[in-house]
Amino acid sequence: MHRIPVSDAVNQIDQNVRVSGYVHEFRNLGKIRFIILRDQSGTIQVVTRDKIDLNREDVIDVIGKVVRSNIAKAGVEIQAESIRVISRVKKKLPVDPSGIIPSDLDTRIKYRFLDLRKPEVMEIFKTKSDLINSYRQALLKREFIEIHPSLILGAASEGGAEVFQVEYFERKAYLAQSPQLYKQMVVIGGLERVFITLPIYRAEKHNTIYHLNEAMSLDVEMAHIDSHYDVIELLRDVVIEMIGNKIGLRNINVYSYEHVVELLNENNMKIELGDDFSKDHERKIYEILGEEMYFIEGFPTKIRAFYTMPKDDMYSRSFDLFFRGLEIASGAQRIHDVDMLENALLERNLRLEDFDFYLEAFRYGAPTHGGFGMGLERFVMQLLRLNNIREAVLFPRDRTRLLP
Ligand code: ATP
Ligand code: MG
Repeated sequence: MHRIPVSDAVNQIDQNVRVSGYVHEFRNLGKIRFIILRDQSGTIQVVTRDKIDLNREDVIDVIGKVVRSNIAKAGVEIQAESIRVISRVKKKLPVDPSGIIPSDLDTRIKYRFLDLRKPEVMEIFKTKSDLINSYRQALLKREFIEIHPSLILGAASEGGAEVFQVEYFERKAYLAQSPQLYKQMVVIGGLERVFITLPIYRAEKHNTIYHLNEAMSLDVEMAHIDSHYDVIELLRDVVIEMIGNKIGLRNINVYSYEHVVELLNENNMKIELGDDFSKDHERKIYEILGEEMYFIEGFPTKIRAFYTMPKDDMYSRSFDLFFRGLEIASGAQRIHDVDMLENALLERNLRLEDFDFYLEAFRYGAPTHGGFGMGLERFVMQLLRLNNIREAVLFPRDRTRLLP
């Protein structure tokens, strides 16, 4: 017989149905036994006269008739004709899937397969799926195409120290900390509007509630722009399409770095022009502005990556997007002139040889271009007000965790 999700039973009164799932609760009243059966869609009461004995989280397969019930929560219950035990719980449950007994995050992640059985935990991953889907839809609609650059690189991108080294036959390789240089080469290649939904790997040693060593990056790169404001506009529209309705967001303001530094100093938070914001600064800015989302643009060139297009001697055509006070995306117009790019590398004491594969792309005609990278887990974390970014990852990778 055809299986239905338990939430569909209300529409099947007097019908015979088949449902499968976990035993959420079991009560033996002697003549009659009550089972609350749970699947991904919810719970339903099952009644049987079988002399069956069950424990919480056993997996069962039930065939029976849906009838109205005054006592059951859903207003219906299933009168079982047959109950087949698929698998029994063999050990004491280390995490309580009903959520009545709370567990710390470490234990929850260790037993993710039990933790996931809680509806509110399932919901996090449904939200994550919805967000990446709506991101895709918003970009496809605007004639972007999705590309899949390699995550194994022969040179550490961006020259940062925070890369994982891996063995690649007889050579050393690195896991991509960002698809940055590759998405730029693709745009220079003539695919004018591209996006990416792939992980990035960062060997950040510090253990914070905002950082993962493997995170999903939602990237965009686009050609023929006049400034970083073209990218800001796109990201604003995409984000409003993704969550505007969920949080009542209709617009996102843009503030300049210089203005925000002034605001911080006026509010007794010391910061010099030229400094990057710390997480404390970011929290204070949120407190001062009191807006759910905002852009800050025009960061000092020296605190941004080498490929960032300068505005003048001091500032750059760059921006960050903040959601409830936390940076969730960074973007910029990029340098498209190879001489300028070489100077930018040398100014940061990076070796031109290391970037030759990339610089070469700028020697055969390169359009103006820009883009952004947005962290999917940071986005989910802020949207659902999670306490720790690890909650937004099924099997997080951090300093101490490689299994499960
Ligand atoms: P932060 O300063 O907050 O560590 P970042 O400026 O180094 O972040 P970017 O290089 O700008 O990060 O990456 C773009 C986006 O990717 C960030 O805004 C963030 O949403 C996400 N991201 C970057 N690194 C991580 C990480 N280690 N864990 C989770 N998300 C990350
Ligand atoms: Mg950033």
